[in-house]
Amino acid sequence: MTIQVQCISVAAKRLPLFLMNCYLIFDTDDKDQALVVDPGGEEEKILEAIEGRQVKGIVLTHNHWDHTGVLDKLWRATGATMYMHKNEAKSIETLLAKKGISCSVKASGEENEGGKLSDGATLIALSEGAKVPLAKAGLKTLHTPGHTEGSICLYDEAGAQLLTGDTLFEGAYGRTDFSTGSYWHMLKSLEQLAKLPGATKVFPGHGQPTTIEREKSRGALSGIKDSES
Ligand SMILES: [Zn+2]
Ligand SMILES: [Zn+2]
Repeated sequence: MTIQVQCISVAAKRLPLFLMNCYLIFDTDDKDQALVVDPGGEEEKILEAIEGRQVKGIVLTHNHWDHTGVLDKLWRATGATMYMHKNEAKSIETLLAKKGISCSVKASGEENEGGKLSDGATLIALSEGAKVPLAKAGLKTLHTPGHTEGSICLYDEAGAQLLTGDTLFEGAYGRTDFSTGSYWHMLKSLEQLAKLPGATKVFPGHGQPTTIEREKSRGALSGIKDSES
């Protein structure tokens, strides 16, 4: 049972020269099921990568247009449950309503309550530590505010892999000057990430993959304290 992360480089919907990393995640033992993280553009390319797999969930690391650009199209094509941090769940409900999709928001753990799900979309509002289900293990939610108040990283602890959205990149961390951004929160979030094992592979929302160790030695995490001292 190994979780595999496949990067799909796509042009963000409203800015064709701006590339972002959408990710397809699947378990090597059960390749028929997958998660899609951050459908920012080029839905044909994403659907092609899915290749007939059953999409169990669409996860959003935060609500910025370059990460949610084709969310409505991907939901219409798959009907998959959506996942994002509770601080930004309402904003996705509003975004989908503008596209004519009604969305019911449920807290993580309540997804199976209430019998039949509504005809519209379902969005699971994640809290720190909540699991996004995939095969047996799933991915753990790390709430890492700073770029936005509801930014998350997705952690595959057993496989030492981390999807960081716009929180951590190769050699940089995310902007903190957006409306719900906070430099202070970003520092706290980077401290949290610096505590992860050095060998952890980092898959960012833009650019090349890196590792926690590399970012600590000469990248965005150098100078970030990684202990309580
Ligand atoms: Zn962003
Ligand atoms: Zn971005």
